[in-house]
Order: sequence, then structure tokens, then C-alpha cells
Amino acid sequence: MSATIISGKDVAKDKRTQLKKKVEEIRSQGVVPKLIIILVGNDPASLSYIKGKKKAAEETGVDFTLEHLDEGTTEATLLQLIDRYNNDNMVDGILVQLPLPAHIDETKVIEKISPEKDVDGFHPINIGRMMTQQDCFLPCTPAGILELIKTSDINISGKNAVIIGRSNIVGKPVGQMLLNEHATVTYCHSRTKNIEEFTKQADIVVVAVGIANFLPGNAIKEGAIVIDVGVNRLESGKLCGDVHFEEASEHAGHITPVPGGVGPMTITMLISNTVKAAEKRARK
Ligand code: NAP
Repeated sequence: MSATIISGKDVAKDKRTQLKKKVEEIRSQGVVPKLIIILVGNDPASLSYIKGKKKAAEETGVDFTLEHLDEGTTEATLLQLIDRYNNDNMVDGILVQLPLPAHIDETKVIEKISPEKDVDGFHPINIGRMMTQQDCFLPCTPAGILELIKTSDINISGKNAVIIGRSNIVGKPVGQMLLNEHATVTYCHSRTKNIEEFTKQADIVVVAVGIANFLPGNAIKEGAIVIDVGVNRLESGKLCGDVHFEEASEHAGHITPVPGGVGPMTITMLISNTVKAAEKRARK
């Protein structure tokens, strides 16, 4: 069997075209969707992610401001700045780029962002709303994963889904979102014994571990949907995922590549959340 490749690049492109149209509509009602990103320090990976976010905002017509603060910025100053934007009626989304320098408490910062502007979907109120299936901002990477799974036209309801990884930003929420879609969900992690026994039963496998080629092809059930979240840099400089792509392609029905799979969707869902917030403002 040779798997169908789910191109996150193509799905993201279509989604951005739809978002651009929505932004034009919102702008025609006199509202300009606005996203603020706050960066503390000069972490090179963060700077590169922000470049991608800025490009996506420009592509879709979302107004974008980067507040680039000095590495030594105090927690109090950062919290004050967040509050200023919380109270700014012209701002729809606030994202504080993580990780923060060690002297700043990440939890305090996330909880300071108004849940109504938390376009990253990390605030405990949004997580609680997601768990109880209320209207909320979904975290971007898991939301992007769900969109990718849905392009394969399978009915998630009743399927066995195995998630490898239980981080707060990927593993846990993606499992919850699949549960909300009526999948039977199993979480595997570093203490799980014989992970392959679980994955061999899975119709959907999401791998978010951060170890290059972690999952071999023979651990995958024939025809399964395989979503590879991992981004690992090999010594050669090449990027690769957590799934052994060549082997897995022989068994999976659908598979996401790395790069060009989950990555482009994450940023697109950030814009989608910002547009959602702006739509609400336009309706007020
Ligand atoms: P993380 O916070 O480091 O979590 C990794 C998870 O993998 C943990 O739950 C850990 O288990 C589990 N794990 C580690 N070693 C394992 C092993 N040998 N067997 C089974 N489970 C193991 O990572 P993350 O933030 O979720 O990210 C995961 C990967 O996705 C990274 O490569 C990251 O770069 C990538 N990522 C990509 C995007 C994107 O947009 N493309 C977004 C976010 C993350 P324990 O909980 O037991 O420690």
C-alpha cells in the first residue's frame, strides 16, 4: 500500500484564501482584525516562528504588531503590557511567544491574557471550555491536526485514536478534541510499555514526541491515518518527523509529511482564531 499524502501546505493555502475573504467582509463592516504578538528576548526559533506568523497575517489582511521587548524585561512590565492590550477595544488577539526567559512565570503570563483574546488557546478557561465543548479558542496545533484528519474524509466517530505524547500544547488537547468527535482515545507517553501494541490497533495515530523516526512503519495498522507532529533537525541539517515516513507510507492510508504537514496548519489556525475574535467584535 502506498499512502495518500495529506499536504498541510495545500490545506493551509485553501484555508488562508477563505480567511482572506472573511477578513475583507469584516473590514467592510469597519472592523480591522488585529493581532498582537509579544516577544521577550531574541530566541532565534521564536524569531523564525514570528516571521511565519507575520507573513500569514499579511497574506490574509490581519493587522499585525510585534511588541519586541528586551530580554531583561520584568514580569510586572510584561503583565502591564498584556493588560493594556486586554483593555484595547481595537485588539482581537494577544499571543505571548513562548518560551519566556526564566525570570518570568509562564503560567502567570498565560493567565493574564483575556480568555476572549487568547488566540493561542492556552488559557485554562479556554482549555476548560474545550473539555466541556463550549465555544472557545482551540489551541492552534491540535486544531490544525483535526482539520488535516477531516480532509481525509474519514468519519472520526467510533475510530480508535492513539496519541503518542501528552504535552499541554499538543498531545493532551488533540486527544480531547478527538474524544469530542467521538473517537476512542488512548494516550501513550514515556512510561507506556509496548507502545506498538496500541498503535497496531489504531485507525488514527498522532505522534508528538520530538524524537526523529520514533515510530517505525511496522507499528502502523494497514490503512491508518498517521499525523506526524514532530519537527526534528538531523545532523545533515534536514528536517524530519517522529514517524519513519518511508516505512509508514507503505502501511498508512493517509500520512502527513515533515515539513509541509502539521507546521503550516498551526500558523493558519492562529489567524483563524484571530479572525473569529474579530468577527465577534464586528457583530457587537
Ligand atoms: P514535549 O512537551 O517535549 O512532549 C513530548 C511528549 O512525548 C511527552 O508527553 C513525553 O512523555 C513523550 N515522550 C518522550 N519520549 C518518549 C518515548 N520514548 N516514548 C513515548 N513517549 C515519549 O513536546 P511537544 O511540545 O508536545 O512537541 C512534540 C514535537 O512536536 C516536537 O518535535 C515539537 O517540535 C513538535 N511540534 C510541532 C508543532 C508544529 O506546529 N509543527 C507544534 C508543536 C510541537 P512524558 O510526558 O512521559 O515525558
